[in-house]
Amino acid sequence: MECRGCCRFREAVSPWTPSLLSEEVAFLKKSGIQESFYSLEKKKILPVWNEKENTFLCPFIEEKSYRCEIYDFRPLECALYPFLLSSRGKKIFLSADLHCPYLESQGKSQEILEYAQYLHNFFSSDPGKKMLENNLHLVQPYEDVLDIIEVR
Ligand code: SF4
Repeated sequence: MECRGCCRFREAVSPWTPSLLSEEVAFLKKSGIQESFYSLEKKKILPVWNEKENTFLCPFIEEKSYRCEIYDFRPLECALYPFLLSSRGKKIFLSADLHCPYLESQGKSQEILEYAQYLHNFFSSDPGKKMLENNLHLVQPYEDVLDIIEVR
């Protein structure tokens, strides 16, 4: 299924634009990626306004093929999507964006449930907890998402 929802954003900076782990920022810097593509300070990818599409597009999207040019090294947050880390007061939940057409088509399939469980196990493990603790900027107060499991 082709999806034209991912990798495009209503605003240049919002909870929905990809946040970067500290090591991902360091990797982009070391790789010599154009600095306007991301913010070192905000640890965010910086989408660019696209007149034709009337929206902000991730600078790493290849417009014709609609492929991610850094797919093999895409940020964890992109790999997680349509799962997200949501802040609810002091708690953190693994949530899902129900507007994702793929998720909509899969519903509560075994594959989706197993993947959610895998992610929960990861964020409950020592390396997962440490990663989360060092990158709390990934956790956002997403609205209009389904909170699935409390991870912290
Ligand atoms: S880095 Fe790749 S997967 Fe992530 S938003 Fe950009 S184009 Fe999409």
